Amino acid sequence: MTVTSTANGYPVWWKYFSYWVRYKRAKGRCECTGECASEKTHGNTRCVEMNGFKAVWAKGRVVLTVAHLNHNPSDCREKNVKAMCNRCHLRMDSIHHQENAKITRDKKRGQETFWKKGMWSHERERQLNRPKPI
Ligand SMILES: [Zn+2]
Ligand SMILES: [Zn+2]
Repeated sequence: MTVTSTANGYPVWWKYFSYWVRYKRAKGRCECTGECASEKTHGNTRCVEMNGFKAVWAKGRVVLTVAHLNHNPSDCREKNVKAMCNRCHLRMDSIHHQENAKITRDKKRGQETFWKKGMWSHERERQLNRPKPI
């Protein structure tokens, strides 16, 4: 039997791949171009944080990590991963968590049809834009 992924969903060659993404492809610089939805710091331009340097937008030093854009650690296609500084990664994940919390809340209300993961429905948008009853 060949082991292709570890218990947490990361492939066994993750270490090497993550190194390649951070240092060969990204050249040590955060690859976030707005995925973290951080308009204040870098908007849709590439983040300036460099691995090992003093962080511009946070305290301490920058540590580059590799983020999965679809939050699936076993999906290691080159376009699904980005080297990200601590701050961008954290922000991107927190958006994801908020979205998941929304899905859970809506499921409890029996509205799961409006929130298929990662899909924004017009019906849902209409509901949110509707003025609240007084
Ligand atoms: Zn960044
Ligand atoms: Zn960012």
